[in-house]
Amino acid sequence: MAITNGHGVLDAEAVKHEAQHQTQNADSDVRINNWSTPGPAAFDFRSDVVTTPTPRMLAAIASTTLLDDVFQDDPTTNSLESFIADLTGKEAALLVLSGTMGNQVSIRTHLGGPPHSVVTDHRSHILEWEAGGIAAWCGALIKGVVPSNGKGYVTLEDVQAQTVLSEDIHACPTKLISLENTLAGIVLPLEECQKISAWARSHNITMHLDGARLWEAVAAGAGSLKDYCACFDSISLCFSKGLGAPIGSIIVGTKAFRERARHIRKSMGGGLRQAGVVTAPARVAVEDTFLGGKLTACHDRARQIAALWESYGGKTTNPVETNMVWFDLKAANCSVERFIEEGQKVGLRLLGGRLVVHYQIGEEAVERLEKLMKVVLKGERSNGTVEHEAEKLKMETE
Ligand SMILES: *Cc1c(COP(=O)(O)O)cnc(C)c1O
Repeated sequence: MAITNGHGVLDAEAVKHEAQHQTQNADSDVRINNWSTPGPAAFDFRSDVVTTPTPRMLAAIASTTLLDDVFQDDPTTNSLESFIADLTGKEAALLVLSGTMGNQVSIRTHLGGPPHSVVTDHRSHILEWEAGGIAAWCGALIKGVVPSNGKGYVTLEDVQAQTVLSEDIHACPTKLISLENTLAGIVLPLEECQKISAWARSHNITMHLDGARLWEAVAAGAGSLKDYCACFDSISLCFSKGLGAPIGSIIVGTKAFRERARHIRKSMGGGLRQAGVVTAPARVAVEDTFLGGKLTACHDRARQIAALWESYGGKTTNPVETNMVWFDLKAANCSVERFIEEGQKVGLRLLGGRLVVHYQIGEEAVERLEKLMKVVLKGERSNGTVEHEAEKLKMETE
């Protein structure tokens, strides 16, 4: 069913229809619920957070245990925590509600009181996308590192240049380095992680990893979960991005880290009661999507999309290493607003030049995307008629 109306605008009723997979026949009693298929997620490139939980996740929720996790009584939750601790090679794991909570609880758990600084990539989630949480919870100065190697990830030399080792009373000593993997879809190579970690530890600096999408780096063959996690004192991993769970993240570290983190989590309002409704589908997400090998297929599709864009003369701003494709809209002479609007006309949801490919993006979404590429790069209208000669669209270059 088309989800655009005659005026080429995303039709709210049609989206709802598509979401609920309602049959065309309005008299029919047959209503398949929202869990049955991806619904609009199949055409949504805005983020991998849009993935729709599956019937197996619903079944897991229906049969989960319902005991209290603040009392640490719930078997499903305890078992997910030890399962993830084993997978990552750490002593202990603790459920948190979101990736942001995972980072904030972890970093607050490690740090004492000011004056102290945290060193991180200048684009990192903890610096740009967590509402200034580190400043609020920890009173820490954050120092942003700009990668200098042209490959999109920070190196030991970049990190060293921002890290404050001085004991001088004017200085704000670095107590923690927080890395992010993947960042903008780009893998931080294991070897670089190991170098940064060895140096940081030789200076008694704690290492945290925002591994919301570490699964993607591992699926891309960059290294094992255990090898990456060995570089860090704590790691935060998301269940609700590319893995497809409805809610939840987890942090891993030593037993002592977990016990203090439980205390901090409570202070932030993150102690859950019947947490099994969160942890049962999260377990399915790890088993089906990550261990089930579905992420690699997304990476193939992301490469397919980049190649298609390039075949129409488009440029990309970053290489495809995992599940993100970065269209250079500027080079295509297309504003973000127009890109989103033209996307709606072909039945796609977009945020801008960054396209996130998740496992519920299928062939049909790529076909719609190809129509959009023809509009943006070849001047075709979405009704199929050619508006401009391709030659005339080319930008003047010096
Ligand atoms: C999404 C994301 C988070 C935060 O996750 P929420 O569950 O949305 O709070 C943290 N770090 C990175 C790198 C992310 O991509």
